[in-house]
Amino acid sequence: MVLVQLTLTSWSWTALFLVVLVATVSAYQATKHVVARRLKLARTVLRHIRKHKFENLEMATTRRGDELNDLIRQVHRTGQVVEKELEEMKRLDSYRRDFIGNVSHELKTPIFAIRGFGETLLGGALEDEEVSQKFVQKIVRNADRLGTLAEDLSDISRLETGQRTMQIQPISVRRLVADVIESVESLAKNADVRISTSVSKSLPPVQGDALQLRQVLSNLVVNAIKYSNEGDKVRIKARTLKKKSIRISVVDTGIGIEKQNLDRLTERFFRVDKSRSRSAGGTGLGLSIVKHILAAHDQVLKVESKPGVGSTFSFELPLADLPG
Ligand code: ADP
Repeated sequence: MVLVQLTLTSWSWTALFLVVLVATVSAYQATKHVVARRLKLARTVLRHIRKHKFENLEMATTRRGDELNDLIRQVHRTGQVVEKELEEMKRLDSYRRDFIGNVSHELKTPIFAIRGFGETLLGGALEDEEVSQKFVQKIVRNADRLGTLAEDLSDISRLETGQRTMQIQPISVRRLVADVIESVESLAKNADVRISTSVSKSLPPVQGDALQLRQVLSNLVVNAIKYSNEGDKVRIKARTLKKKSIRISVVDTGIGIEKQNLDRLTERFFRVDKSRSRSAGGTGLGLSIVKHILAAHDQVLKVESKPGVGSTFSFELPLADLPG
C-alpha cells in the first residue's frame, strides 16, 4: 500500500513538473512573440522616420508600461520632433527663397533707373543743362531709395533674428509725439497735409524702448501723410485706458484701405498700390517693422479703415512702473 502511494506521488511530481515546464515554455514563447512584435514596430517606425514618412507615426503610440513600451513612446516622440523640425526647415527655406526673390526685385527697379538715367546722360543729355539736372536729381532719388531699402532690410533682419536688443525705460508720450512731428514736418508741408495732436499734458509715462517706439510712430505718421491727398488731415492721439495702458492712434483722412487688404498690411513687401508706394519712396517694409517692434513689446497693431474716408492705426503701451 505504501509502495503504491509512493509511486503515485512520484507520478504527481512528474506531472507537475511537466505542467510547469509547458507553462514556462508557453509563457516564454508568448513573451517572445509580444516582445518581437513591439521591437518590429519600433524598427518599422524608425525606418519610416529615416525616410521622412511621418504619416504612420501614430502606430507607435503605446500606453505607458514596461521599458519596451517606454522605448516605443520615445520613438514616437522623436518622430514628432523630427517631423516638426523638418516642417520648420521647409518653411524657413521657402521664406528665404521668397525673401531673396522679393529683395532682388526691389533692388532691380532703382538700379535699372539709375543705370538708365546715367546712360542717357552719357549718350548726350549732359550737354543740356536742364535735362541733365533733372536726370541727376532722379539718380539721387533712386540712390536714396536704395539707401532706405538697405536700412529697412537691415532693421527687419535684426528684428526677425532677435539681434536688436531692447532698452526698456519710462518714456514720455508727449516727447515721443513731438519728436516724430518734428521729423516729418517738411514731408507734411510738401504734401499739404496738416498734422495735429491730442495728447494730454498729464499723461503718465509708458514703458518701452524709446528709439524703437519712435520708429513705430514715425512709420505710421509717414504712411498717414504718404497715403493722404492734398488738404487731408492727420491726427495723433494718446489716451489712458483703465489706468493701465495708453493707446496711441494715428488717424488720417486719406485714401483708406479696402477691407480685403487689411489683414495683409503687415506682410513684408505688401503694398495695396505698388506705384503709389514706390513714388512716395516706400519699401513695403514699414508696417512689417512696426509689427515686429510692437510684438517685442507684447503689443499688436490695430487698423480700421474705409476707402475714401481714411484710416486709424493704433497700438497700446503699458504704463511705466515708477518707483515710489
Ligand atoms: P510702404 O513702404 O509701401 O508704405 P508699409 O509696410 O509701410 O509699406 O505699408 C504697406 C501698405 O499699406 C502701403 O503700401 C499702403 O498701400 C498701405 N498703407 C499703409 N498705411 C496706410 C494709410 N495710412 N492709408 C492708406 N494705406 C496705407
